[in-house]
Amino acid sequence: MNNVLITGAAGFIGSHLCEKFIREDFEVYGIDNFVSGNLKNLDKLKDFDNFHFKKHDVIDDLNLGIEFDLILHFACPASPEDFLNFPLETLKANSIGTFKTIELAESMGSRYVFASTSEIYGDPLIHPQNENYWGNVNPIGSRSVYNEAKRFSEAVTIAYYQKKSVDVRIPRIFNTYGPNMRVNDGRIIPNFIIQALNEESLTVYGNGSQTRSLCYIDDLVKGIFMMSMNDNISGEILNIGNPEEYTVIDIARNIIKRTGSNSDIIFKNLPEDDPKRRCPDITKAEKFLNYSPRIMLDQGLDHTIEFFRSKLFD
Ligand code: UDP
Repeated sequence: MNNVLITGAAGFIGSHLCEKFIREDFEVYGIDNFVSGNLKNLDKLKDFDNFHFKKHDVIDDLNLGIEFDLILHFACPASPEDFLNFPLETLKANSIGTFKTIELAESMGSRYVFASTSEIYGDPLIHPQNENYWGNVNPIGSRSVYNEAKRFSEAVTIAYYQKKSVDVRIPRIFNTYGPNMRVNDGRIIPNFIIQALNEESLTVYGNGSQTRSLCYIDDLVKGIFMMSMNDNISGEILNIGNPEEYTVIDIARNIIKRTGSNSDIIFKNLPEDDPKRRCPDITKAEKFLNYSPRIMLDQGLDHTIEFFRSKLFD
């Protein structure tokens, strides 16, 4: 395996994936349309000879003149605020974009990794969520452009596996955080850290009793890399994340403590369809890949606070 195509290369997860594959000596070809990606995320990669980047929309013609051995389809806005601002782009990246990328994989005999999400479980009625759970999803809510398109893309991916023998695998990615998230991303960790560093009130939505399980980016990338390289998991779907579960209010308090901020906490309306509890059951990833996350929340937050501090005060 040598040539890798990564869509969404300038995004938060995409940029870290590019770096991992570059460091593992692959020829890495990244594309991004910059709807939510940021060229700055690629600054430290552009000096590597084995990295090639092109501004390109995944829904356009994907004939890039390269034979790919592996295609990772990660192009998509991923913050609930983006779903409100870019609903059509979100839908298209995970419908037209999924067809374009998997058809390319079929035509080239490439391995295909589709970035799915814990959002396919919706507001889950079982806890923790394992891969057999079908989910509890509102098909027309504000998150549906993401949830339903990701669910559709899973169906597309599995159909190409069954009917066209494409070698596919689907990571379901749970909440992930770390450097290269945008300052104005809108998700919990960037919001709280930026607010704390600016000595502004932290905006907890609802009463803060909802939970999330947060995975540091390096642990997520490790899981995606393992899934990409494993020869025995074609057609498999695996939850990738960190099962350490916290309430939103505890995350806010922890960030105030770790930044040494004097910020207080204010409460705002809970967004529509905000899941009440979310935690991955990663038993399957442990069994198939021997995967387990290593970086716990305190350590991951410290790295991320350092990153945002340098962004705000450089
Ligand atoms: N959240 C919050 N304040 C913020 C941003 C997010 O209380 O400024 C909450 C949000 O309501 C949700 C959780 O944090 O319950 C995680 O939100 P995020 O947007 O990061 O991702 P989600 O898991 O909802 O897709």
